[in-house]
Amino acid sequence: MRRQRISIEGIVQGVGFRPFVFQLAARLQVAGWVRNDSRGVTIEAEAETPVLAAFAAALQAEKPPLAVIVRLDSRELPATGACGFAILESRADQTARAQIPADAAVCSDCLAELFDPADRRYRYPFINCTNCGPRFTIVTGIPYDRPQTTMAGFPMCPACLTEYHDPASRRFHAQPNACAVCGPRLNLVAADGRNLPGDPLAEAVCLLRAGAIVAVKGLGGYHLAVDAANPDAVRELRRRKRRDEKPFAVMTADVDSTEQFALASQDEVRLLQGVERPIVLLEKQADFLLAEEVAPRNRTVGVMLPYTPLHHLLLEKDFLALVMTSANLSDEPIVYLDDEARSCLADVADAFLTHDRPIHTRADDSVARMLGDRALLLRRSRGYVPRAIALPGDQPPVLAVGAELKNAVCLTRGDRAFMSQHLGDLQNVEAHAAFTTALRQLGELLETTPAVVAHDLHPDYLPTRYALEQGTLPTLGVQHHHAHLASCLAENGWTGSAIGVIFDGLGYGADGTLWGGEFLAGDCRVFERAGHFRYVPLPGGDLAARQPWRMALSFLREAYGGDVPVLSCFTGVPAEEFNLVRQALDKGLNAPLASSCGRLFDAVAAILGVRNAASFEGQAAMELEMLADRSATSPYPFGLKMEEGVLVFDPRPLVRALVESIGTGEDPPRSAGRFHATLAEMVRQTCLVLRARRGLNTVALSGGVFQNALLTTLVRERLERAGFKVLTHSLVPPNDGGIALGQAVVAGRLADEGIRN
Ligand code: ZN
Ligand code: ZN
Ligand code: FE
Repeated sequence: MRRQRISIEGIVQGVGFRPFVFQLAARLQVAGWVRNDSRGVTIEAEAETPVLAAFAAALQAEKPPLAVIVRLDSRELPATGACGFAILESRADQTARAQIPADAAVCSDCLAELFDPADRRYRYPFINCTNCGPRFTIVTGIPYDRPQTTMAGFPMCPACLTEYHDPASRRFHAQPNACAVCGPRLNLVAADGRNLPGDPLAEAVCLLRAGAIVAVKGLGGYHLAVDAANPDAVRELRRRKRRDEKPFAVMTADVDSTEQFALASQDEVRLLQGVERPIVLLEKQADFLLAEEVAPRNRTVGVMLPYTPLHHLLLEKDFLALVMTSANLSDEPIVYLDDEARSCLADVADAFLTHDRPIHTRADDSVARMLGDRALLLRRSRGYVPRAIALPGDQPPVLAVGAELKNAVCLTRGDRAFMSQHLGDLQNVEAHAAFTTALRQLGELLETTPAVVAHDLHPDYLPTRYALEQGTLPTLGVQHHHAHLASCLAENGWTGSAIGVIFDGLGYGADGTLWGGEFLAGDCRVFERAGHFRYVPLPGGDLAARQPWRMALSFLREAYGGDVPVLSCFTGVPAEEFNLVRQALDKGLNAPLASSCGRLFDAVAAILGVRNAASFEGQAAMELEMLADRSATSPYPFGLKMEEGVLVFDPRPLVRALVESIGTGEDPPRSAGRFHATLAEMVRQTCLVLRARRGLNTVALSGGVFQNALLTTLVRERLERAGFKVLTHSLVPPNDGGIALGQAVVAGRLADEGIRN
């Protein structure tokens, strides 16, 4: 006989881990006990050597679906000759380091019960178990226990309580466990606040079928739902939500229905069906059966599968798909409180399908796309938060406040980084409130007080101002593109130096100018700017991002001097405005210089006639990627030369070649494809020079431009062929949503060395 103490860290609490261990021990006839403790789960196991080995192997191989084992250590103890196996009470210091699980989609066992007329939870919209259901969004404190969730107000009925205490039950210690007798209830409310009679679900389905807009309370907030096949309803939603063109996500019952309007590869199906249930960007079918207004002028559509029992019931038989868009007014954070929903959405929703289980923490849907065979998160939120990101080693606790757009914050504890849910663009009062709430909640959840606050260098970013106003804690500014680089290195566990190819819209440079097409050489501590795009003026500053024709004019003026060719992208621009912009460029007024890559994409999109005005940042660039003919791989000419030890990419030959290609009748998809190939070739050549000069063979790709799967793939291929090791993002967004991680890592390293300001 041998006895071992096995310590397991990771997501092992609140996911049915102890009953799993209990049942496994019974099956293999292992004696001992299991209990939750401050770091995760501890097991003492006593059996013959081969049985112990089988037990340890099964712990890994058969663990519950939501469990994540980060570390498993075992040490020998003297055998005691004990028999039987027990689940011991948690120790008082429980969970200080244990991780709160993320929300998970309803599991197949619960779904089977949901649609089984003989089951006591038949059609109960809040069915869940230890393998599924709400977690992060209902946790109000730690340890993760029912009184510290928004289920505290629902005492369990005897039947539920029996399951809760039965280690053989799938609902053993399932904190949100409930049934129709004791649990939350649905309720349908009219826009004027009246409770509507009848069965809330059936009535809501009726309203949706008639084209109404129904606000539906979900896990992390409210959605606005309409029938996605009804063009009038979708158009009305756009009108009321004041949203012109930004695509709406849809929810569809299953993969079969998805395939009626979108194409999904095997990898995409796996991503759709994962417990995280992100919105997945899929290519539309040629014959798109949903209303065109869902994703106008877009080759892709964002699709998610149902993740709550209520979603399954809503989509059971009446709709091919429902638009399910975050309930908010343009650009404000998702609405999640019931009162807030009633007041904010009174003019938008015709009715509210709601319930009495409060949402404690708001969380939007996550957004992902496939990049090769890996998922790439564009928005990291519900389903992924608050999963930890492993850091190479312990560091002082750092709070990183992120950038201003697509904001998410990050708090570190020991050797783990915890990123908050997506908080959106911090440009209004509501978003600022969401930001401060998230900071507080993250600190409470992790029971961690930061030693350092890290922020962007941009003095006007709201999070920067917030960080500097705290006063009591040391702060550290981290350059925007260095943070992108560090974020990519950290996600990939890379501790050495690398070439950072950091392409985005704009970020505040170390020299106070605007950067955005950057080649850095550095690591998670320090960096040097080794290369960049040639500076061009951004006419009108922020306006340039919304009006790609301005960028086209600016790049053309650089490429041709005063003799700007007359292109179709300028038709429709009022002559007066055009001339004003031109004069401003000539005089250098209100036209800050920037080395932006994103703005080059905008300019090229305009030149190729994709669009000359955008309703959101990055729209033109996205459409340029969609337009591109992937078989057009021959690059256009471009300039690349060393200026004072720094490589400068000159896009003027490229711009002239593009204009010529229009003249020779090259079709725009081909030109768009060749533009992507040009950038990839330029990256390859730049990296070759940097490798020769600095001996760096690893390249990290980050920044919002690398949401572009075509560009990422082309760059990766060319670099790998040249023998580089290429690091890309996957579960941390390449855009500013991932920047807080980089800030936290850089500040952690520097704080460790005692460098503070
Ligand atoms: Zn379940
Ligand atoms: Zn019950
Ligand atoms: Fe950025």
